[in-house]
Amino acid sequence: MKELIKSQRTYFLSGKTRAISGRIETLRKLHELLLQNEQILADAIYKDFKKSFYLTVENELSLPYGEINRAIRNMRKWSRSSQFRTNLVNFPASSRTIPVPYGVSLVIGAWNYPYMLSLVPVISSLAAGNTVILKPSEISSNSSHALARLINSNFPPELFFVQEGGPEETMELLKEKFDKIFFTGSTRVGRIVMKAASEHLTPVTLELGGKNPVIVMPDCNLKMAAKRLTWGKFHNNGTSCVSPDHVYVHEDIREELIREIKKNITAIYGKDPKLSPMLPRMINSIHFERVKSYIETDKVVAGGQWDREDLYIEPTVLDGVEPGDPIMQSEVFGPVMPLLTYSDPEQLIESLKFNPTPLVLYIFSGNIRSAKRIIREVPSGGGMINDVVLLFINMNTPFGGLGESGMGSYHGKAGFEAFSHYKTILNKPSWFELFLKYPPYRPINLRIFRSVLGKSIRNFWH
Ligand code: NAD
Repeated sequence: MKELIKSQRTYFLSGKTRAISGRIETLRKLHELLLQNEQILADAIYKDFKKSFYLTVENELSLPYGEINRAIRNMRKWSRSSQFRTNLVNFPASSRTIPVPYGVSLVIGAWNYPYMLSLVPVISSLAAGNTVILKPSEISSNSSHALARLINSNFPPELFFVQEGGPEETMELLKEKFDKIFFTGSTRVGRIVMKAASEHLTPVTLELGGKNPVIVMPDCNLKMAAKRLTWGKFHNNGTSCVSPDHVYVHEDIREELIREIKKNITAIYGKDPKLSPMLPRMINSIHFERVKSYIETDKVVAGGQWDREDLYIEPTVLDGVEPGDPIMQSEVFGPVMPLLTYSDPEQLIESLKFNPTPLVLYIFSGNIRSAKRIIREVPSGGGMINDVVLLFINMNTPFGGLGESGMGSYHGKAGFEAFSHYKTILNKPSWFELFLKYPPYRPINLRIFRSVLGKSIRNFWH
């Protein structure tokens, strides 16, 4: 590891990642490799959790393809310097900031989208001119091996290398000095990563978990809310960081919402969801047992079946869930939707303000003004009105958490910025010098300041 990091640092400091044309070439090569090896990548992820070829292309590879194209199109624009006003005391001069790559970056991925969550930050890092060590999740081990084989046999390790391993190997890596760390994973491990990074004062971006609440208001378009909620909750088997975690439904519309969700589960996954190719399985028996344990039989209003051999859990809805129930104590991260009933929206909103900060807050409402107000007032990484999940794939906007759900953001330009340091450069010519700058300072100096600058004396310095 030490040797690899040293070779990446030497490569970076040699300036070889600086040329935009070289970065574009690297990204084009990555695009081509992914495209040519889609089937191999899909076969590996199928072994991990039965994700179909369709879903692999749709939600694991299409975002990286889009990010590569976006970075290639915009890299020159994003790399330009920006001009700022120069204050009077520095006059004449020009003030600019210029984005420069940090250096050697470490990207740590999660298992729930083993390709997409690893590749999107990698693309931003390479676009910004860094070298990258990628550490995918060992839990999706087949996908991790496939990625390592593909990358390590096609890229020079001093530019881009995939280092496989679990917690132990990650801790070894984290002992070394990196210039930027980008972590996607749980809040628990996010704390470990940030602590390790602080030893070297390495800047971090943390994309962490989210127990994302959904509020269904009585004035919403209920049929559409149920349809979108059903799709979003069970998409990727309920294992997206932006999954709607639990649903607060107004008591007046509770029964109708349950009826509609049940209809939609059948419409999307058929009478026997186990046969649907659109429903991946739980990643391993630990996660299977965890999610299965949330299913309290007397609260099941839809689904509720499972198959331990197949690591299958049927899309399930639980009614009458209380804040103290086990399912409400951590991120569900599986195909179980808890419904909690409320009667007073304002009381609910006040209570949500004191929960750990979610990644996204979802509201289904007919009153957009009030929905916007709630999103502004309740702490969360982001918010979405009348739909779920899809804000993640709008790569034109920054995406990131707050508090327990993370810090910093990425996607598109924000990803480039996450992997760049904005260096300020003040450029002063040598033909003019302000004599007032130099001691000895006499009362006359102050009088000159006052007479020349009057009340704006503060602006002179600031
Ligand atoms: P995790 O935190 O268990 O693992 C993430 C990475 O950290 C893996 O590469 C793993 O090898 C490593 N790791 C695990 N334990 C470690 C330890 N003790 N020391 C050092 N490294 C360690 O997360 P996960 O289970 O792979 O992913 C699921 C979590 O990620 C969920 O909470 C989900 O919400 C979150 N997530 C967040 C986003 C986002 O964009 N905010 C996206 C996807 C997933």
